[in-house]
Formats: sequence, C-alpha cells, structure tokens
Amino acid sequence: MNLVCTECGESCNDSSSAWRCRCGAPLDLDFHPIYDFGCFAGREPGIWRYREALPVEDPSAPVTLGEGGTPLIESKILGRRLLLKLEYISPTGSFKDRGASVLISRARELGIERVIEDSSGNAGASIATYCAAAGIACEILVPEGTSPGKTAQIEAAGAKLVRIPGGREATADAARKRADKVFYASHYWNPFFFHGTKTFAFELVEQLGGRPPEAIVFPLGHGSLLYGTYIGFSELKRLGVINTLPALIGAQAAACSPFHHLHRGEVTLDSFTAGDTIAEGIRVTKPARAGQILRAIKETGGLVVAVDEEEIIEALAALTSSGFFVEPTSAVPLAAVKKLDSAWESVAIPLTGGGLKAPEIVARLAKGITGNSNCG
Ligand SMILES: [Zn+2]
Repeated sequence: MNLVCTECGESCNDSSSAWRCRCGAPLDLDFHPIYDFGCFAGREPGIWRYREALPVEDPSAPVTLGEGGTPLIESKILGRRLLLKLEYISPTGSFKDRGASVLISRARELGIERVIEDSSGNAGASIATYCAAAGIACEILVPEGTSPGKTAQIEAAGAKLVRIPGGREATADAARKRADKVFYASHYWNPFFFHGTKTFAFELVEQLGGRPPEAIVFPLGHGSLLYGTYIGFSELKRLGVINTLPALIGAQAAACSPFHHLHRGEVTLDSFTAGDTIAEGIRVTKPARAGQILRAIKETGGLVVAVDEEEIIEALAALTSSGFFVEPTSAVPLAAVKKLDSAWESVAIPLTGGGLKAPEIVARLAKGITGNSNCG
C-alpha cells in the first residue's frame, strides 16, 4: 500500500522502513475504500465487522482479541446529559486496541518480526499485547513513573519494557533514534493505527441509528482517537452515509496543552513548554500531527478546551461515583463539557482508559486528594 506525505506529497510503499517522510512530516495512507455501510449490520460486533474498510490485504485472518463493539451509555453527569462510549471495556482496557489490531495485522502481513513503540502506557500495553497474539517480538519505551498497571500489562505480554528518564518527550526521542533500524509501531506516526481508531466513528453512527452525535469531546494528547474518528466520519460523508461531520473537540489539561495554545495562535510547537498534570495519557508536549489535527478540528467546527487539575479531579469523582471506573485522563473531556456551548444537545465522550490501570491514584483523587505527577 502507498503512503503519502501530509506536507510535500511525496509517496513511498509501506513495505519500506520509512516511518515519516524525508521532509520530516507524517505519512498518511493513500487508501480510500468504497463499501456499503449498510452491509455491516448483523455482523458480529468488533472492528473487523468493517473489514472492507480496513487497510489489510487479507481481512479474513486479522490479529484480533475482540476489540471494538464498546457500549454507548446515556447518562446525566455534572448536570448534563451525555453519551458515554465505554472504550475502557476493551481487551487491554483502552481504545488503543482498535489501532493496535489493524497496525499489527498489517505488520504481520509485511513479515515484520520485531517492533518498537513509545507510549505513556496505554498504547504500549496494547501494542505489546497484540504483538504477543501475533508472535512478533516487541520493545516498549515508557517514561519513568508510568502507572504500574500499564507496565505490568506490557511485561506480562512478554515485551521488553524500557523505562526512560526525563518524561514523555525524552521517551519519544529515544524511540525515534531506534526507528530506522526496527519497525516503528507508533500509535501516532504510523497511519495504519488511525484506520483502526476510525471504527469508533462507524460504531457511533450505527449505535445512534445512522447519524453521528452533534459533538464529540476527546482527551487530546497525540490525537490518535480524534484524528482516526475524523478519518472515519470523512469516509462516511464521502460515501453519502452521513451529511455532516460532528464537531470534534479536543480537551487538554491546562498544564500540558500545546493544542490549546496553538489553536489560539499563542505559541509555536518548538517554543511550547509544559507543567505537571495527573492526566498521564495526554502528557504530550510535541504532538507529531499537530497541523493535521488542528485542521480537522477547524473543518468540523470544533475547538480545543483546557481544564485545570481541580476540574479534572471533580470530573473523575463524578464519573467513578456514577459507576464509570476510569483513569484520570478519561475525565478530562467531562471537565471540558462545562465550558462548551449548551446548544449541542447530542454530545458524546469516549471513556478512553480504565481505572484498573492506576487504581490507587484513581481512588485517592476521587476522594479529592491530589497526587503527584511529572509532565514531559
Ligand atoms: Zn514530505
């Protein structure tokens, strides 16, 4: 399959070792499937029910652990009625399994025997787990201090776990130095990952009777769910399944909010510096696809919202006391909802990662006691 540069347009084949363009920009997949969305109805739940829309040569034998098909629950929390999509009910406890299933399926087709990935934890746990299922050797780099629940998943899957001092960006730098020699199974550089997370959009349309919600609020770090969702809805619009794209809204922790500053034109990515946040899953200072993601947000009429730590803790306590046991990162969108236009009646939120990733921290925060963290 062909990969095409998001900036200069140069293309290369995905069997090459390129993980980004020679100009340094991210690569997209030159893949524009044509399918009958109605044909998916009645199939088994999970992302591979959409197999005609997924970029693999042989969709009959994917690397799958039953990812996707997550429940959509309507609930009134903090005074607002919301559609909560329970992505934490996934094989490894986060939405990352959608992307990992497609990316590792393609890696196996290409005959890849070893991969490397860097992650704040959830993507690493997911890539490690799917590599275990595929029989592919795997090395995961995480920031020192990553939640034990996530590192335990990585090691239990048989992957080599490498803790990198210096935060999230130092971990990404360490992975990039290795990426020319080992297949880089990155959840934000590799475009196959986004064609897995696009199934989030497909499921929402099916679960809502053929139309998307008016707005969706995502925790925004590297944007692997937001941008995948944008691809999914864009495909459905191109095929005439839906008429309009929902507003895609990025929610960030104010202490670590490059998109929020970029959206307002206040900084450049190179000049951005960050502070601490409890939302470890979105502790990202230099998102690789910042330009693309900001364009997607703008095209859909969305925006970027920043919330402070106290607001995240309040939202986390509201979720856990309503029966949704999630990690702090998953509470960021709910905290952001208070700052949104209430004219949107149909607002969806993905609950991206489970509380069992960091149960002691969740329990402590939900009681209103602030923990410590470090922002890369
Ligand atoms: Zn380029």
